[in-house]
Amino acid sequence: MRKYIIALDAGTTSVRAMVFDLAAKQFIYTAQQEVGQTFPQSGWVEQDASEIFFKAAYVLNSCRAAAGEGEIAGIGIANQRETVVLWDRETGEPVAPAIVWQCRRTSEFCASVPKGMRDVIREKTGLPMDAYFSASKIRWLLDHTPAARELAERGRLCAGTVDSFLLFRLTEGKSFVTDHTNASRTMLFNIHTLEWDGELLDYFGIPRSILPEVRSSDARMGEMKLESAIVSLAGCAGDQQAALFGQSCTKQGDCKVTYGTGLFMLFHTGERCVRSQSGLVTTVGYTLGGKTRYALEGSAFNAGSGIQWLRDGLGFLSTSAESEQVASSVPDTGGVCFVPAFTGLGAPYWQSECRGLFSGITRGTTRAHLVRAVLESIAYEAKELAVCMEKDSGFHLACLKCDGGASANDLLMQFQADVLHIPVDRPKERESTALGAALLCACSLGLADEEAASKLRIRERLFTPSPEKERFDALYLGYLQAVRRALL
Ligand code: ADP
Repeated sequence: MRKYIIALDAGTTSVRAMVFDLAAKQFIYTAQQEVGQTFPQSGWVEQDASEIFFKAAYVLNSCRAAAGEGEIAGIGIANQRETVVLWDRETGEPVAPAIVWQCRRTSEFCASVPKGMRDVIREKTGLPMDAYFSASKIRWLLDHTPAARELAERGRLCAGTVDSFLLFRLTEGKSFVTDHTNASRTMLFNIHTLEWDGELLDYFGIPRSILPEVRSSDARMGEMKLESAIVSLAGCAGDQQAALFGQSCTKQGDCKVTYGTGLFMLFHTGERCVRSQSGLVTTVGYTLGGKTRYALEGSAFNAGSGIQWLRDGLGFLSTSAESEQVASSVPDTGGVCFVPAFTGLGAPYWQSECRGLFSGITRGTTRAHLVRAVLESIAYEAKELAVCMEKDSGFHLACLKCDGGASANDLLMQFQADVLHIPVDRPKERESTALGAALLCACSLGLADEEAASKLRIRERLFTPSPEKERFDALYLGYLQAVRRALL
């Protein structure tokens, strides 16, 4: 009988489940459901956690049906991180809308946290004080939801990230758990001791009793009924960390970049927990086989969104993919530089008020030059993060593994290799997050180990850097000058 693993990827805009064939080392089926978001006020983002659960159950059942006679050995989970759900332990019903990671409603509170406390938080959790992370969102929900407070007093309230809520509901309330990577994004979790931190819980006024038990990323999380069979829920990680594992970044110095709407770079620092001096985040990469792997994480808020803007905002392109052909029609940008600061700039600048710009425009500038400049800006952003990571960690970046929608763009990937002066390695399976969840599940079930899992990645293409190092360094310097103009 064929053996399959299901990877459940509960993302921000959709929930997907994919059937992974262990023998063929590939996905054979995908089911996907879009999930809604609501924006009740400027800067607020909410979701209905029940909708996420029902859609997760639906795609899991679709996968079960698609696997036919095959055996489902287990289900691994990857999920959008930091998003907070509060629910009733007895009924499993959410008591308020989920506050999504993008939501900025707690910015004011976060800005009021004194410097001393920020340092404590940074030291213990690896995170800079920001509304992005879960702690202030849980506090807000407790303050603004009378039903939640009442349930908390009666010992019936549960608070957790999306993985934790899904695991609770899929196991019909039997498992109230999360994994170390998800916990490491809450701002309540000490990443050195791998425990909820009493001082931080007190500071945010969050009772320990409402939080889940934290297990390793390769732990057995519970069991669920899928049709008539009982299936093990095994292996769980936040989406970016799952992608790190799916890209077989299992050694110190390994690095992956996901080129989606934004850009996420994770740099494996092994057993070392590196404190960033450049505004990067220190996070748990994954915990597996009793070992903890740490990572440095840097993100740019806008990457593929620049291409979306050219397509939908300016009407310069009919599809995102067309950007490659248009940009290839010119040998360079003709001196034009683009800074994609649509919503400010992240590491290492952390300016949310500055805005994007084009520089160096002449009468000879064409649509192709502008499109090329937007594509190149994505590669420069990754270079800026890579420079920070090398500086912070003291490690040399030897190769970059890429995934995400815009990694399909050959011109961008070649330019990335040229600007970084290192090879860019693109895998055959671009769904790294789902692959990571499937491989963590395989490890949990004893069907693979870290070493074996890392060999399941198959390279599709290696982009080798141009020998013209100086030329690309000069282009990068030009970009940095444009950034200086954009900064306030
Ligand atoms: P997300 O998970 O953030 O929604 P995806 O990984 O699906 O993102 O990638 C979608 C993004 O990638 C979009 O912003 C889109 O404009 C961009 N994109 C997709 N294909 C290409 C391409 N061939 N060239 C450049 N950008 C692309």
